Amino acid sequence: MSPPTPPSPAKKPAATAPAADAARLLAEHVRQLHTCQKCPNMLKPVVSGGPVLSRVMLVGQAPGDKEPILGRPFAWTAGKTLFRWFQEAAGMSETMFRQRIYMAAVCRCFPGKKPTGGDRVPDPEEIANCGTWMRRELELLKPALVLPVGKLGIQQFLPAEKLDLLIGRQFTVQKAGQTFTVIPLPHPSGASPWHRMEPGKTLLRQALALVVAHPAFQELLREPDPAPPGGGQKALPLWPTNR
Ligand code: SF4
Repeated sequence: MSPPTPPSPAKKPAATAPAADAARLLAEHVRQLHTCQKCPNMLKPVVSGGPVLSRVMLVGQAPGDKEPILGRPFAWTAGKTLFRWFQEAAGMSETMFRQRIYMAAVCRCFPGKKPTGGDRVPDPEEIANCGTWMRRELELLKPALVLPVGKLGIQQFLPAEKLDLLIGRQFTVQKAGQTFTVIPLPHPSGASPWHRMEPGKTLLRQALALVVAHPAFQELLREPDPAPPGGGQKALPLWPTNR
C-alpha cells in the first residue's frame, strides 16, 4: 500500500485520444458489456451506469436484485444513502452524479441469493472475468480519481485491511497502466452498521472531504449541465440496461 499522498492535479485527456474518439470507444465498450455472457451463474441483464466520459470512476461491488429491473446501479436503498452522502458533502444530486461519474463495479450482474439469505458473493473466477471489463475502462477513461465502494471494491485496488485503516485516507495506485488516486468508501448498504457508528462516521466524513477536495472532482462540479440530446453533450445519456 502506498502512503497517503496529496491529490494530484486532474490530468487532461491524452492528446492521442480526443474526447470524441474516447466517447465513441466508451459507447462501444458499454454496448459490448451489455452482451457479456462470461459467467454462467450470474443473472442477466448486465447493469451499467452507461458510457459517461469522466475522469472520476466509482467502483461498486455487484448489483442487487432491484438494479437489473430498474436498469441502473445503486438504484435502491444503498443508492439512496450513497447519493445522500454526495448531496450533503458536495451539493451533488443523484442526477448530477449519474451524469458526471462513470459507475463501474467488481461484477456487473446480480449474483443471486445465498440459500441462507442475502446476496451471493461473486466467486474469484467471476471477479476475474468482470475485471477484464474494468481494466479496459481504466485504459479508456484514464481516471484521475477512483472511488471503490465496500470491501470487495476496495480489494481490487488496495490490500485487504480493516476499514478503519483505509477509510478517510487516499492512496496512489497503479493499475492497467494508469496511475490515479484511490479514495475508498464504505458500502452504504443497511447491512453493515460501520458507517453509522464511530469511528466509521468520522472516517467517512474525512473520506468525503478528500473526494470533494480532489481536483478531478472539483472539475466535475464546475462542468455545465449536459446539453439536451443532440446538443453534443460530454456526458452521454444513461444506457438503457432494462431493454
Ligand atoms: S459479471 Fe461481468 S463478466 Fe460476468 S457475465 Fe456479468 S458482465 Fe460478464
